[in-house]
Amino acid sequence: MSEREHDIAVIGAGMVGAALALACAANGWRVAVIEPSAPEEPIADSEPDLRVSALSAGSESWLRALGTWPAMQAHRMAPFQRLAVWEAPSGPLASVPGGRLLANQARTEFDATRLGRDHLGQIVENRVTRWALWEQMGQTPTITRFCPASLKALEQTDNGATLTLESGETLETGLVVGADGANSVTRRLAGIGTSRTQYRQQAMVINIRHAPPAQTITWQMFTPQGPRAYLPLPEADGSAWGSLVWYDQPETLDDLMAMDETRLLARIRRTFPLELPDPEAAPARGRFPIAREHAHHYARNRVVLIGDAAHTINPLAGQGVNLGFQDAAALARSLGPASPGADPGAMDRLTAYEAERRPRNRLMMDAMDLFYHLFSNSTPPLHLARTLGLGLAGRVPLARDRVTRYAMGIDDHLPAPIESLLKRLA
Ligand SMILES: Cc1cc2nc3c(=O)[nH]c(=O)nc-3n(C[C@H](O)[C@H](O)[C@H](O)COP(=O)(O)OP(=O)(O)OC[C@H]3O[C@@H](n4cnc5c(N)ncnc54)[C@H](O)[C@@H]3O)c2cc1C
Repeated sequence: MSEREHDIAVIGAGMVGAALALACAANGWRVAVIEPSAPEEPIADSEPDLRVSALSAGSESWLRALGTWPAMQAHRMAPFQRLAVWEAPSGPLASVPGGRLLANQARTEFDATRLGRDHLGQIVENRVTRWALWEQMGQTPTITRFCPASLKALEQTDNGATLTLESGETLETGLVVGADGANSVTRRLAGIGTSRTQYRQQAMVINIRHAPPAQTITWQMFTPQGPRAYLPLPEADGSAWGSLVWYDQPETLDDLMAMDETRLLARIRRTFPLELPDPEAAPARGRFPIAREHAHHYARNRVVLIGDAAHTINPLAGQGVNLGFQDAAALARSLGPASPGADPGAMDRLTAYEAERRPRNRLMMDAMDLFYHLFSNSTPPLHLARTLGLGLAGRVPLARDRVTRYAMGIDDHLPAPIESLLKRLA
């Protein structure tokens, strides 16, 4: 290692950047973390946070390996044992009694017990994960947190990089990791372009308090206007809670955002399926723009991108942070353990990371779009089967099953025929 104070500078202590910093420190690297705002400590029994993530089994194992999981569990999280996806009957079907039955035939459901597991995933408030990672970084002597601080300028040379923070302070490092989210300043300063598709549908998240009992199922119903999803939240203040995700046209979401709580609750009751436990209050709501965006390169001359700085994905199946954790784990593996003279910014380490992660992230982006089309009832099964080259309409449910398992993070891989089909379609 060189005489500089920090081998690696991580820009952004969101969930992904903070987890990477801990993994690198565990490998003996000296890490600087630059973050504009420290996470707030979660308050016991407070109303659940609006921003939550469905963490997959893979993310759970990695956070366990980092030693962060027990602190997250000590706050709170909501495991889900079942996951269901179906399409709502549309057109004349919607108003006949048998319509619901037909919709149920297109229902795909997974149960942890049948897969030999305790749970399929955990819904965790982002502030719980961020706080646990932040605290752990504070207890790690080889991590230096710069906060509040943000990256302003970057100079890359063959031998290292110089960062200038908004405060004017400068730092020398061997590698800069851009973990600063979808609007990454690191990516812009490194001159890395992106391909971007703005989805017409946008997402709104609403936290509801509902009639007990607390749920252990997460579900998603596709309607012609867009999906409606329910995620169980941890119990708080003696009540059951859930997070609703409502995808729709921007104008509809404008109306919903402007409604008072009584009208919003009435609209939720009308629009969501009977599976939704009766909502009693909807104290928090927020809107999030959704876009598919992929950096043209993940690595360039002493700079590497991870998490949302490298890719944003349709949040339909909630895989954004799970992919980010996979990036962080792969980068930590490529960097390997620190040793005298080891160069963390050596291009062969960074290209190994990019070669592993870029195709996997691209595949998940494509799978997410396929998942959407397999459930959105705007395309009849026979037409879909032909378009996808599946031969028979009867193969659609099977493909749907496997793509759902992958998109929801239950399976790590797609069956080879579907993976090669996706590559051809892409
Ligand atoms: C509605 C919605 C629902 C979602 N649900 C899920 C889900 O269920 N499961 C899931 O896996 N994912 C989900 N996602 C996606 C997930 O939230 C993101 O993929 C994840 O938060 C990305 O983490 P990150 O650490 O890469 O980036 P971010 O969370 O954006 O963190 C970036 C960090 O960088 C810091 N930063 C910014 N600029 C600078 C700068 N100049 N200098 C220094 N630091 C800077 C920020 O303060 C922040 O802390 C959802 C997204 C949306 C919109």
